[in-house]
Amino acid sequence: MVEDDSQLRSALIQLLGRWGYACEGSGDGASALALLAAQPFDLVLLDLGLPGLDGLELCRRLRQQPGHQPLVLMLTARDASGDKVRGLDGGADDYLVKPFEPAVLQAQLRALLRRRGRPLDVDLSWGPLRLIPGQSLLWIEGQPLGITRKEALLLELLLQRQGQCCSKQELLTGSSASSREVGEATIKAHIRNLRSKLTSAGCRADLIETVYGLGYRLNPNALA
Ligand code: CA
Repeated sequence: MVEDDSQLRSALIQLLGRWGYACEGSGDGASALALLAAQPFDLVLLDLGLPGLDGLELCRRLRQQPGHQPLVLMLTARDASGDKVRGLDGGADDYLVKPFEPAVLQAQLRALLRRRGRPLDVDLSWGPLRLIPGQSLLWIEGQPLGITRKEALLLELLLQRQGQCCSKQELLTGSSASSREVGEATIKAHIRNLRSKLTSAGCRADLIETVYGLGYRLNPNALA
């Protein structure tokens, strides 16, 4: 979700989480490009009006890069019909005029993802763990383990990092907890529950490791 209006950004990220999509947010073009280079995404919700590098230029640069290409759904202002044409010419897959009804966004996302055969078949595996995005089911050495949707979103974010630290803030926004204060305690509680489910399924207790003062990561040392 690339949008410089932080209120709109967090509202949309929250909405996307409720629809079952793990999501990361960025407030400007340059940091969005860095994020996109760091890991594969299925789709970019891209606001056209961004400070510095605008959405159109970001899209052009993204499309020039080799390797994996995410879908791009561009968000444009009303009455800017030239923007739509430029957006599509610049490599966007579709566009949506702001303001829009959430249901319209949801339908458009679904249609776009279905049309292009996404979500990505990214390897969301780590040691004995395997997670299929969008499902509240974790596979541990081939055995299914039921987890909640929120736990699945958190684990998806951790799995995407493959052992790198995921900050509490990233987990919070990515799993769309509502308020910061309530959110951090909630993240902690979800991680605690996940750990207890994982240990009851035979994993080591420190498989999800606390990175003191920063966040959490999947612990490579816990795989031995
Ligand atoms: Ca904007």
